[in-house]
Amino acid sequence: MPDDRPLDPIGYVRSPYTDKFGIPRQPGLVTAAEGRIELLPPYAREEAFKGIDGFSHVWVIFLFHQDCLTAGWSPTVRPPRLGGRESVGVFASRAPYRPNPIGISAVEHLGLQRSEKGLALGIRGMDLLDGTPVLDIKPYVPYADAITQARDGFATPPGATALAVAFSDAAETDLACADPGGERRLRTLIEQILAQDPRPGYMDRYPARKLFGIRLFELDIGWTLEDGQVRVTRILPVAALASGPSAR
Ligand code: SAH
Repeated sequence: MPDDRPLDPIGYVRSPYTDKFGIPRQPGLVTAAEGRIELLPPYAREEAFKGIDGFSHVWVIFLFHQDCLTAGWSPTVRPPRLGGRESVGVFASRAPYRPNPIGISAVEHLGLQRSEKGLALGIRGMDLLDGTPVLDIKPYVPYADAITQARDGFATPPGATALAVAFSDAAETDLACADPGGERRLRTLIEQILAQDPRPGYMDRYPARKLFGIRLFELDIGWTLEDGQVRVTRILPVAALASGPSAR
């Protein structure tokens, strides 16, 4: 392969995450997030995935395409896991802003799905923005990839700090409109995302700020955080809020 051959996406991610704010920091944290990788020709062929059903998970190798391709990089970054206060080296981090903005996520796959749009690989629990270009897919190989005695540095698992999430009456009504049959698993999706406190680490320096918003699918989800309790206030189509003040 010549050195200057540009990398060519094999497909694009379709995910509930239509905005960067609110996306979990790693895959596997929000299991209600389901989507797919829509494959492009000439890669959209079943034979290219022969044997994939024997594996439960795949590595998705992708481009951090939003804001990261032209932003440049810095030798140090301030990871949200450290509250945005401490810096570590970019190569000691999983930060999106890198010399070559390439990401890796191990996600559960749901098999090939054929529709009128073509061939796709179903995925679950991704940390990927809708529209993310995918460079490669490889099976996750537990005997080599799962290193159980590995040290985790500053990237300790979340969990103990999960916030309680409640829905206002208005949000319950909105939810019934936005996901009447429950196919999108919207309630669980919102609960799992907000339980992890998706605010950037530095937000605890602004304790007066109590109103937030995240975007999922075509919906704006307004929520408040007070005394460690998350309360979802509204779930409205983006267009309905376009003329009003932004909650973000
Ligand atoms: N598991 C990956 C990603 C970790 S960083 C890795 O370790 O390489 C996760 C963050 O990447 C998310 O919080 C989201 O804000 C950001 N992100 C996801 N998809 C992106 C995209 N296409 N462009 C830019 N940032 C993206």
